[in-house]
Amino acid sequence: MMNRQEAYLLRKTPHGERDYVLTLFTRESGKISGFAKNAKTSGKRFGGRIEPFVLFRARYKERSGGLMLVDDAETVKVFRRLMEDVELFLWGSLALETIDILTPKDAPNEEMFEALTGLFTELDEGRSALPAILEFQLRTLALSGYEPNLETCAECGKEVGDRAHFSIRRGGVVCTECGTRAENGGLISREFLRRRDLMELHLEKVLKYVKLFLRFTEYHTEKKLNSSRFMEELTV
Ligand SMILES: [Zn+2]
Repeated sequence: MMNRQEAYLLRKTPHGERDYVLTLFTRESGKISGFAKNAKTSGKRFGGRIEPFVLFRARYKERSGGLMLVDDAETVKVFRRLMEDVELFLWGSLALETIDILTPKDAPNEEMFEALTGLFTELDEGRSALPAILEFQLRTLALSGYEPNLETCAECGKEVGDRAHFSIRRGGVVCTECGTRAENGGLISREFLRRRDLMELHLEKVLKYVKLFLRFTEYHTEKKLNSSRFMEELTV
């Protein structure tokens, strides 16, 4: 049976001379793996469409063994700025990798798909990248079951105030009484994380949080993001 649905490319691995193994994030089925036969040579079917930062409609057949056979793809939307601007390219790659490591295979998550589309749209429209990335991180962590606990102390269970210590290892905030020992996430402001207007004014602080939640994501998924390397050198 032939299926057709919207998708983003997460990963593309060459397979032999002419084929690719694709990892797609689809609107209705979540993350799936597919096999694109003759994709390297068949510009007519795939040319420029199965690429990062392109929303496309993939047509595929299910095969036994769980791997799909991707037949062709048509472009729905190209997020051109993400392809052309070096910094946006890196942020976009980070977002795709984040989806990849947070999402198990064959687990539909349409809200996650919308979050990615929302982020790409914002970046493509030229809105400031860092606050959009931070909101995307918090949203996708929540949608994938890795949500940091920002409400109650991980040690004593008490509600915390606006400012609290953050512990990556314990998965959330620690109150000021329990957090006297140096926690690895430093001090955070919960109010700040909810206020886009404040974020726009303090991009340096946003970058600090983006790095924090990257480390949080890597720690709890036990996976490494390739694009986190460029983050270390990034300044605002
Ligand atoms: Zn406490």
